[in-house]
Amino acid sequence: MRSPQEPEWITDQGGEAFAHIYRVDAVLHDERSAFQRVRVIENLDFGRMLILDDAVQTTERDEFIYHELLAHVPLCTHPAPRRVLIIGGGDGGLLRETLRHPIEHATMVEIDRAVIDATLRWIPSIPANCYADPRARLLVDDGIRFVREGGEHFDVAMVDSTDPKGPSLGLFSSEFYGQMAALLGASGVLAVQSGSPLYQQDLIAMVQQHMAPHFRWVRTYLGAVPTYPGVFWTFTVGSQGRDPAGVNPEELVERMRHIPTRYYLPAAHHGLFVSPPFLQSAMSAG
Ligand code: SAM
Repeated sequence: MRSPQEPEWITDQGGEAFAHIYRVDAVLHDERSAFQRVRVIENLDFGRMLILDDAVQTTERDEFIYHELLAHVPLCTHPAPRRVLIIGGGDGGLLRETLRHPIEHATMVEIDRAVIDATLRWIPSIPANCYADPRARLLVDDGIRFVREGGEHFDVAMVDSTDPKGPSLGLFSSEFYGQMAALLGASGVLAVQSGSPLYQQDLIAMVQQHMAPHFRWVRTYLGAVPTYPGVFWTFTVGSQGRDPAGVNPEELVERMRHIPTRYYLPAAHHGLFVSPPFLQSAMSAG
C-alpha cells in the first residue's frame, strides 16, 4: 500500500520486458469513455500528458516531434495537396500542423469525443485553435466506416491512431488501405504511424505488406519520440505518384519556408528514410 506522501507512477509498457514510467504529479482528468480510459496527468519533466488506457499518446513537451513527422512528410510528398483527411488524431496536434499548409480543407474523423474534449480542456496548446479554422471539419465517427462509405476524394490522408487494438484494429488492414487508396487521387499520399522498430517489427511488416498492393511507393521513416517506449518510432507512407524519399530538396525548402518547425527539416527529409543499420531489418521488413 503506497503511503500518502509517495507519488503514484504510471507504467507505459513497450516490449515484453521493459516500460517507461512517469511520476504522476497531478491527475487533471480521468474518465472511461465508450472506447477507452482517457487520462490527463501533470508530470514535472513532460508537462501535461494524454494517456489512453495505459499508453502515453502525447505530451506538452514532445508532441511537436510526432505531429511534425506525421504531417509534413506526406504533405510535402504530394505536389500540391488541397484536400486532407485525418483519421484519429483526437488531441488536435496533427490537424494543427496540417493547417499550416496552404490547403483548402482538412477533415478529421475521430471516434471518441472524450479525447477531443479532454485535450481541449487540459492541454489546449496541442490543438491550439485548429478547430476554429474555417478549413477544418471535425467529425466524431469511426474512421473505418467513414472510409468504407467513401464518396469524398482527398489528396493526402493520415492515420493518427492508437496501436492496433479495439476500434483502431481495422485501420491497419489491407482492406482499409485499399479503400483509402480509392479515395486518394493519382498523386495521393497516405501516412500512418507504424510503431516501434524495437519491439513492433511485425506491425511495421504488416503495414508495409498491407499497403504494398495499393500504392506505387511504400516507405517507412524514422523519428525519435522521447515519450514512446524505446523512443525510436516509425511512420509508413504510401504514395501513388512521387517517391516520398525522392522529393526535390529545393522544393521542400521552398514549401516549408513559411512553416517553421522544431523537428522536421526539409534538409533532413530524405535522411528520415535512411535508418541506422541495426534498424534496417525492422524498417524494410515488408
Ligand atoms: N497524436 C497522438 C500521438 O502523438 O500519438 C495519439 C494519437 S490520437 C490520441 C489516437 C486516436 O485514435 C484516439 O483519440 C482514438 O480515439 C482514435 N481512434 C482509434 N480508433 C479509431 C477509429 N476507428 N476511428 C477514428 N478514430 C480512432
